[in-house]
Amino acid sequence: MWGQRQLDFDRYSGYGNSYGVRDYNRNLSAAESERELRDLLANIQAAEEEIAPQDRTGTPEGMAASIVLLEHQKIGLTWLQKMEEGTNRGGILGDDMGLGKTIQSIALIVSRPAEPIDDTVYWDNKEIYYQPPPPEKLVKTKATLVVAPVALMYQWAEEIRTKTQPSLLKVHIHHTSSKITDPEMLRRYDVVITSSTTLSGEAGDDSPRKKRPIGALFKAHFHRIILDEAHIIKNKNTKASLACASLASTYRWCLTGTPIQNSVNELYSLIRFLRIRPYCDWDEFRNKISNPMKKQRQYGTAMQRVQALLKAVCLRRTKTSTVDGKPILNLPARNVEIVHAPFSHDESTFYHALENRIRERFNAYVKAGTVMKNYSNILVLLLRLRQACCHPHLIKDFDKVTEENAPQGQKAHVEVLLDNLLEDIIRRLVEREDDIRECPICMDVGEESVILSACGHIYCRACISDFLTRQEEEDRKCPECRRPASLQNFIPVTDFNARYNKPPEADPKGKGRADGDVVEDDLSAPLDIAVPGELDDWISSSKIDRMLDIIRDVIGRREKVIIFSQFTSLLRLIEKPLNQEGIKYLMYDGSMSALERNEAVQRMTHDPSYGVMLISLKCGSLGLNLTVANHVVIMDPWWNPALENQAIDRVHRIGQRKDVFVHRLCIPDSVEDRILELQTKKKALADGALGEGDVPKLAKLGMQELMFLFRSG
Ligand SMILES: [Zn+2]
Ligand SMILES: [Zn+2]
Repeated sequence: MWGQRQLDFDRYSGYGNSYGVRDYNRNLSAAESERELRDLLANIQAAEEEIAPQDRTGTPEGMAASIVLLEHQKIGLTWLQKMEEGTNRGGILGDDMGLGKTIQSIALIVSRPAEPIDDTVYWDNKEIYYQPPPPEKLVKTKATLVVAPVALMYQWAEEIRTKTQPSLLKVHIHHTSSKITDPEMLRRYDVVITSSTTLSGEAGDDSPRKKRPIGALFKAHFHRIILDEAHIIKNKNTKASLACASLASTYRWCLTGTPIQNSVNELYSLIRFLRIRPYCDWDEFRNKISNPMKKQRQYGTAMQRVQALLKAVCLRRTKTSTVDGKPILNLPARNVEIVHAPFSHDESTFYHALENRIRERFNAYVKAGTVMKNYSNILVLLLRLRQACCHPHLIKDFDKVTEENAPQGQKAHVEVLLDNLLEDIIRRLVEREDDIRECPICMDVGEESVILSACGHIYCRACISDFLTRQEEEDRKCPECRRPASLQNFIPVTDFNARYNKPPEADPKGKGRADGDVVEDDLSAPLDIAVPGELDDWISSSKIDRMLDIIRDVIGRREKVIIFSQFTSLLRLIEKPLNQEGIKYLMYDGSMSALERNEAVQRMTHDPSYGVMLISLKCGSLGLNLTVANHVVIMDPWWNPALENQAIDRVHRIGQRKDVFVHRLCIPDSVEDRILELQTKKKALADGALGEGDVPKLAKLGMQELMFLFRSG
């Protein structure tokens, strides 16, 4: 795709020298290689030296009046500036999530603008290129190009707008309909923000069958490139990784909290993008680092090389780092309280009837020795109990309710999807031994399970909607099989079962069946518990009442609160009393587009009339900044504490000035008690294993844990 031309590049002699090709074959002599290594090592000393307070850059003038950089950010900025002035001309800012990589980058943009550029080179429209053109053809720009995940593009624009002097920087988001086609237009902007997918799409393709010319981003030479969440290019052979590497720029930066996740080879992609010698040469990287790492006797030396390399190009601080002997982060207090919301008499009767029924079923599985074999079914039982703690109406088979209420068009659409399902997929789904509805994203069963029509994989609607929304439309794939997936092509599992998987006419109970089958019989029977109230009539629940108390109190203090729940249906129920009381709120869930989400966050941040935001816990809120609120309500506990902590971190992070209050609602004497207890046990584990900002690895519950959760009393 990048053609056979092997072009040499030399980024040390001014403009037009940054020409990227896949893997540089520079045939270094031993002496040359050694000299480059020495240069690299010289940079380590610069970074290692403690930067004394008087040598630290202050907050640059171009920053907004209200912004004062924190001490570690001043050190960061000083380092960023030094690196640009040195031979590396860039590097990796590897700070932990939450330490302000974005604001340090913005401070760099503001403090080191481009020199007046040579704008006498115009783009020659007559020539069509399918791969990056020679350097002298490139249009010189003063712009910093920010490459970020789709979900963070708007956040970058917003951060720049609010953290710098008004109208100091002209910013353009280069995405879908706002793509610039004429490279000379890029000259108008100080910052251009795009996504890695858009970038790959513009990289051009020289293969005879796919011939596609390059886009504007590859016709320009940038002042600086900042690759946010740079670990997304860790695979050196992906389109995005190759595209980033071939962009032309004077300075090059990677932002990532995890420069290496699984293998040291991931570092190569970053080094290639940064053009750090000698290791941007794949042969050099492979011979000196990658291969020796695999050999026991050379491992130590190779590891030292990696450490030296990282020290030379990377600045990394963690949340526990100290500056001048003081902790780097001095966040306000985080007060966590468990708010007990006892059931009313009616709720209690209902819940305990349900719990007894469910426990009987669980015990039947235990007796038959088939608990783990029926793991999904057990999770459904657990789900019903958890839902019943929130609101009795949640346990009415929610799938059915939405299906009945679904607009006619949507129903018809699902019918069409069902008609067109491939034979193979139908057979696979029907012939499954047990009813696997576990979602591979959250390892739980969601309130609504859906099938992706193209491949037949099953997820909860909340998880898969959120996952796909975070990808660009043309790039959406099933996380299990990487086949194309679309938000429009979900088939609710209940609809599938209604069409293809009708349960056989029930035999008279026990007749002609072996003992072990009793469990199967019981399962297909509905739980058959009278649910209080009509579904259409609004009734409250103890939990919702307690939540409303908290909301009224918070709003009374003119503070703001974020409400998290795993159940979208609960969030929908909460809307009713909020509307009745005239409390203005915002919704943030998996079904919203990146733009809608950003709008909701902006409104929450800037509009004082909104004091409440409802967020689906399954909607990965990573990267979201909600420091405008200082109260968090966790409506329902989950056994995995990592996700909850991540949610609380949205509010309790840099920029938070008030004490933070976390209210964890819990129904006494219910499954929630036991979930909280299980959480405490798991938390010790998670704290040890997780790096900051790591996506928690969710695991299945074990037999012992299940026994514990279904335990009585
Ligand atoms: Zn899920
Ligand atoms: Zn799939």
